[in-house]
Amino acid sequence: MAQRRLMLVFPHPDDESFGPGGTIAKYAREGAAVHYVCATRGEVGTVDAALLKPYEHLPEDQRLGALRGQELRCAADVLGLTGLHYLGYRDSGMAGSPDNQHSRAFINADPAEVVGQLVKLIRSIRPQVIVTFDPFGGYGHPDHIFIHHRTHEAFAAAGDARRYPEAGEPYQPQKLYWTIFPRGLLKFFVRVLPLFGRDPSKFGRNGDINLREITAHDYAPTTRIDVWPYYGIKQQASQCHTSQLSGGPGMFGRWPRFVQRRLNGYELFRRVEPAPDEERLKERDLFEGLQMVD
Ligand SMILES: [Zn+2]
Repeated sequence: MAQRRLMLVFPHPDDESFGPGGTIAKYAREGAAVHYVCATRGEVGTVDAALLKPYEHLPEDQRLGALRGQELRCAADVLGLTGLHYLGYRDSGMAGSPDNQHSRAFINADPAEVVGQLVKLIRSIRPQVIVTFDPFGGYGHPDHIFIHHRTHEAFAAAGDARRYPEAGEPYQPQKLYWTIFPRGLLKFFVRVLPLFGRDPSKFGRNGDINLREITAHDYAPTTRIDVWPYYGIKQQASQCHTSQLSGGPGMFGRWPRFVQRRLNGYELFRRVEPAPDEERLKERDLFEGLQMVD
């Protein structure tokens, strides 16, 4: 039987751990080859100046990327990633920020060039399964939305010998998934956050996540992965991203264990290729139903 190979395609260091970190840890420990394709080094945003001290020998605009590259290296080792592949673009920042205009910003990249890079990676790694963001990019980050579209295009092109002939032998992955944050949970947050004096439209470390807007984008999950045995590993990998943590266990860290299991025990996905023909598909494994030929 061929080895199971999984490729995740996101734009920033931390998207892998804060997102489907439990799923990555699970498949890596079960012997699958798990590859993370990361479009940028997360060069945008403000971090604690002390964290940048070790990088003072670098030009100023490279320090944060270097720090976050180290953080991702740490997370990759904790999660057990087989490969970490950068596309080499610059973090575009949140919608409307001046970083959107940067010439190397990911969202300003030539789409065909990005797809060409992805096709080349797909043809050399030969993953049966690919995972990326949903069409709203989880919470609307422009880089998340941009990579969603490029991943779909690369999935369609990789098996076609006429497309990107310089990028290697054609190879068609079998399944494509989106990561899904549970909407029931989001609606619950939107209701309870005001009780804690927090504004659900200004959530997250930088106050740039609008939970109310996210609940308007409702994608039904098809696939639920039980990651509770790997939750400790996911937390450890998330801790690697020191510059992106708000400090402390957060308002949900102190909740009882049965609540924790409900909040953190599962990761959800929506299968988009092949399109589910059942109204309510219930997969429990990303590799379910695959033909394992090389
Ligand atoms: Zn991100």
